[in-house]
Amino acid sequence: MDISVPSIILLSTLVFLALINRRHRCQIPVSVNYHFTRRCNKTCGFCFHTATTSHIEDLAKAKEGLRLLKQAGMRKINFAGGEPFLYPKFLGEMIDFCKQTLRLESISIVSNGSLIKESFLRKHGKNVDILAVSCDSFDETTNVKIGRGSGNQVQKLYEIASWCRKYNIKFKINTVVNKLNFMEDMNEHIRALQPFRWKCFQVLIVDGENDSAATLRDGRQFTITDAEFGLFCRRHSGQQCFVPEPNRLMAKSYLILDEYMRFLDRNGKQPSRPIVEVGVEKALQSVFWDEPAFLERGGIYDWEKESCSDGQGLDW
Ligand code: SF4
Repeated sequence: MDISVPSIILLSTLVFLALINRRHRCQIPVSVNYHFTRRCNKTCGFCFHTATTSHIEDLAKAKEGLRLLKQAGMRKINFAGGEPFLYPKFLGEMIDFCKQTLRLESISIVSNGSLIKESFLRKHGKNVDILAVSCDSFDETTNVKIGRGSGNQVQKLYEIASWCRKYNIKFKINTVVNKLNFMEDMNEHIRALQPFRWKCFQVLIVDGENDSAATLRDGRQFTITDAEFGLFCRRHSGQQCFVPEPNRLMAKSYLILDEYMRFLDRNGKQPSRPIVEVGVEKALQSVFWDEPAFLERGGIYDWEKESCSDGQGLDW
């Protein structure tokens, strides 16, 4: 069969465009975790985002970065740390900016809960879709051993859950399953607290963060086997809100922006350049993000206060 030169050119062009399209499809930062501070008021032994710097971005620069992310396709932002509520003013300004100016679909915060005040939620709650609070044990002795205890963590959790109901914020719980809590039965409290989502992570070791005696935290003493994680999961599988996340899915599936607005690479490479310097696309190209694992772990879910009424967008 003869193939003419124009046909070859056309075919090559189509292949080229398909490759470009595929690459671009993989580069859309749909859901971003902005760890704008590494500072924290707790000392969890397995922490994998430790206070290696005390840097926090200038507010105007942070807003510029968020605007670039929105232009690149971001639909959900999660503010994390460290502890985001160490900077309530900065956090509040970014939340309001993301919802009112950028009109993002979903805004969430992950916190250890200890510094959350009702006045903050009264002021900014209308712009917060999800508030996730970390709770690794309902036994205060275990919390103290982990490094998160202060005597009232459980009581505070119930208080935050009630504020979330009052201000129409989806309440979520995050639990790191580790050596000290994998035998615990949390069913009763989860039933009482009724989070819309209860994410349970298998404790993770991250190079340079918690992997040795030389890092700020040494998480190795907290690790559990897959079988031990499975035991915890089976005990709680009856909870509708239960979302288990083994290491396999967790390690590289989060798109993490650090305190300098650089994407982190969990494959051992250096972070990207700051997005405000090189743009989102170029920054993303320089790091590895396991997008299939992001989709497999259900990274896109019903993440708004109210479900989409047009039936589009979230169901994929
Ligand atoms: S795990 Fe969370 S609460 Fe604990 S030290 Fe790290 S950032 Fe703070």
